[in-house]
Amino acid sequence: MIVKLISITPEAEKHVEYNARMCYESMDKMTADSHMQFLPNLLKNGHLSIFEHGSASFFIDEISRACSHQLVRQRLSSFTQKSQRYVREKDFTYTIPLEIQKNPEALKIYQSTINTIQNSYNQLTELGIRKEDARFLLPNAVHTTLTMTANFREWLHVIDLRVSLHAQWEIRELLTLIWKELYQKVPSIFDLTYFLHWSKDLEFKKEAFEKYIRNT
Ligand SMILES: Cc1cc2nc3c(=O)[nH]c(=O)nc-3n(C[C@H](O)[C@H](O)[C@H](O)COP(=O)(O)OP(=O)(O)OC[C@H]3O[C@@H](n4cnc5c(N)ncnc54)[C@H](O)[C@@H]3O)c2cc1C
Repeated sequence: MIVKLISITPEAEKHVEYNARMCYESMDKMTADSHMQFLPNLLKNGHLSIFEHGSASFFIDEISRACSHQLVRQRLSSFTQKSQRYVREKDFTYTIPLEIQKNPEALKIYQSTINTIQNSYNQLTELGIRKEDARFLLPNAVHTTLTMTANFREWLHVIDLRVSLHAQWEIRELLTLIWKELYQKVPSIFDLTYFLHWSKDLEFKKEAFEKYIRNT
């Protein structure tokens, strides 16, 4: 799994703070670190639309199509994904779930099925079958590449849903990497404050924050 931050709103915390202070005509109260108290207060009070003024885009690679299918359900995000109609999946790589990796017998079945699919896909395309039709054979495990853009409010929501006990491990791992990047760049928005007030899965969030986000 590869996750790279492509772009983020410049001086994002100051930009969000400025927009929020328009409400109160208090732009003159901005100092170098005023956002550190001001933004968490907005998160606590549920003044969440303010956080739509900042956004970030990520390049995401080597996740399964099963994972990307879950990801693209986040409707307020924007996506661009590698096309299986136009790109030939001749030597596709794929995700192997840990449970299957740990079980030699299951791993053998898994890999031999993938190899059969790979060979059949290549045979079909060599017969002149179009990529858009040959791809009907491809498994959920096949790796995909995409870019995802969302505003900060939506990122907080997606992290809340997917860095969760209830989410599947692959999308949880993906959103944990994204949360870490966002926290490093915009800590006053992506620390635990939002989740302390709005998450239904707080204990899991706290544990993930201590283990993967803050201490790394
Ligand atoms: C653990 C888990 C299991 C899931 N299992 C399934 C499953 O079995 N089957 C399945 O189909 N899906 C499943 N989903 C997907 C889930 O139902 C949502 O579609 C997905 O998580 C996106 O959530 P969202 O709508 O809150 O987010 P987004 O689409 O990112 O939207 C963000 C927020 O905008 C608002 N919003 C967006 N669109 C509308 C709208 N049209 N009308 C009103 N408000 C809107 C809502 O407040 C929403 O929370 C699962 C998700 C999770 C996290």
